[in-house]
Amino acid sequence: MYFKFKKLLSFVLCLVTAFSVFFFNASISEAKKGKAAAKPNVVVVLDPGHDSTHEGCHYENFDEATANLYIAYYCKQELEKYAGVTVYMTRTTFECPFGADPNSKAGCLSARVDYAKSVKADILVSLHNDYDPDLDTTQNGAKVIIPNPSYKPALCAKGQQLGKSILDQLVATGLNINNWKQCPNGTGIVTKDSSGATYPDGSPRDFYALINQSKSANMTCVIVEHAFCTNYSDRVNHLSTPEQYQQLGVADATGIANFYGLKLK
Ligand SMILES: [Zn+2]
Repeated sequence: MYFKFKKLLSFVLCLVTAFSVFFFNASISEAKKGKAAAKPNVVVVLDPGHDSTHEGCHYENFDEATANLYIAYYCKQELEKYAGVTVYMTRTTFECPFGADPNSKAGCLSARVDYAKSVKADILVSLHNDYDPDLDTTQNGAKVIIPNPSYKPALCAKGQQLGKSILDQLVATGLNINNWKQCPNGTGIVTKDSSGATYPDGSPRDFYALINQSKSANMTCVIVEHAFCTNYSDRVNHLSTPEQYQQLGVADATGIANFYGLKLK
């Protein structure tokens, strides 16, 4: 009887051990699964270029600061359909949130970068539209200005991939790739160096303040120039109605989501 009891006890203990090992392993693999599934949250800051104080381009009935705000809102709305991303905007109204002094353009741009840093942005995506200063109506289409390869080349590489991902979506809306006069490389992914100014390592500094200040803060900033208001087809077919702005904002959001491999909620 005692022997039988001992045997039964050892059998039960054995079962308990087997179960605990099973559950212990199961909980480890659950934890591992959880760890693998919990991708780090991506923080995206959208910057609707310009505002009522720091005006962008105007042509016919087109006002750039207004168009950029529309596009940014639609982009945010679309991007928030994806899991694992937090989206902020540097401005949410027509007014400048960083001071309404018309001579404070440089300060306003610095404040936008500071804002992006304060929310720990992974990328700063500045949304704009273009105007040909010579009123060359043949200039049309989309381009993305990315960080140049100097000083921190990894930010250039990241900007290149992000820019390409956004541009692919913009082209799918019917826009051409803009062969920018200042950098006619045919790809729509362009850089612009400042003339003379350098980074601390002596390499050429990016021309645009938003890009060079973001680079100093280890953040990738790209400037999306969606279309030309001075081109009739771009203006009428892409820059005239809220639905058209929505199409551009959705294209930007899809490009950003594809870049990060985000999945819809
Ligand atoms: Zn602009």
